[in-house]
Amino acid sequence: LVIPCWPIFTEKIKNIYLMCKEVRDGQCAQYIPQLARGDPEKFGVSICTVDGQKASWGDSKIPFCVQSVSKAFNYAIAASELGANFVHDYVGQEPSGRFFNEICLDPNGKPHNPMVNSGAIVVTSMIQPKLDTADRFEHVLTEYRKIAGGEYVGFNNATFLSERSSADRNHAIAYFLKENKCFPEGVASLTETLDFYFQLCSLEATCETMSVMAATLANGGVCPMTGERCIAPGACRDVLSLMYSCGMYDASGQFSFSVGLPAKSGVSGIMIVVVPNVMGIALWSPPLDKMGNSSRGVAFSKELVKQFNFHNYDCL
Ligand code: GLU
Repeated sequence: LVIPCWPIFTEKIKNIYLMCKEVRDGQCAQYIPQLARGDPEKFGVSICTVDGQKASWGDSKIPFCVQSVSKAFNYAIAASELGANFVHDYVGQEPSGRFFNEICLDPNGKPHNPMVNSGAIVVTSMIQPKLDTADRFEHVLTEYRKIAGGEYVGFNNATFLSERSSADRNHAIAYFLKENKCFPEGVASLTETLDFYFQLCSLEATCETMSVMAATLANGGVCPMTGERCIAPGACRDVLSLMYSCGMYDASGQFSFSVGLPAKSGVSGIMIVVVPNVMGIALWSPPLDKMGNSSRGVAFSKELVKQFNFHNYDCL
């Protein structure tokens, strides 16, 4: 067993959960009603180890939208199917130092990385571009369910419709990308590409789901619950590298410094944290800090590395 003293370990995690439940900072995302109406009291934590031990606390069975956490998995799927070289002909690996939805390119004329909207929109355009829209959606949903080992993955149509109707910035980004010839040959129209991007932001999951998805990353791309390889080994390494440097919006550097683990957050208050070769962690609580990351999620991560030597450089 990767964590031999499971009851002792989970007791400590429970105490961190209880401690972070008291955190009252932050505000739910306001840009669409589905998020603005989020309950600031909700807090769920799930963990899943690379050998399939699982535990959850709080609101771990309540569905939320994966939002920007989809950027990590969409990239992993694209890089598994197309190879990292192809993907990175169109998107870089550098933290942008700019807001996640800024209209800008790197010095090579590419989106900075797959974790900002511009990069994510390009990556989304690459996934099975020859399939029609319904089959493309189904394909990605099937891949998510594999990565989640059969845990719940759904779709929230209200969020999708809201995202789509409040998408001026994402349309502006998409036109800017098109103007600068950032898309590969033969991809769908901008409207179809953006719809697909919004649909993937609007996929629904629970903490239980996301902890297994994170555990698949912790396990090199093989789902610990099913033993199925879902993500190519190279793509898994690559997505973890990008999560480490770019996964937490403009607090990515601070998070790598203080927590030292690859993570990805989204505006719904979800955050996944990966302890490579050990476990995946899902933290969900809607109030966001000033940088757009879940306040309780960040507090939990900091306390976790205080109590356990999970920081990447703890073992020195
Ligand atoms: N759906 C939002 C957008 O594309 C972003 C989601 C997020 O950052 O979690 O603008």
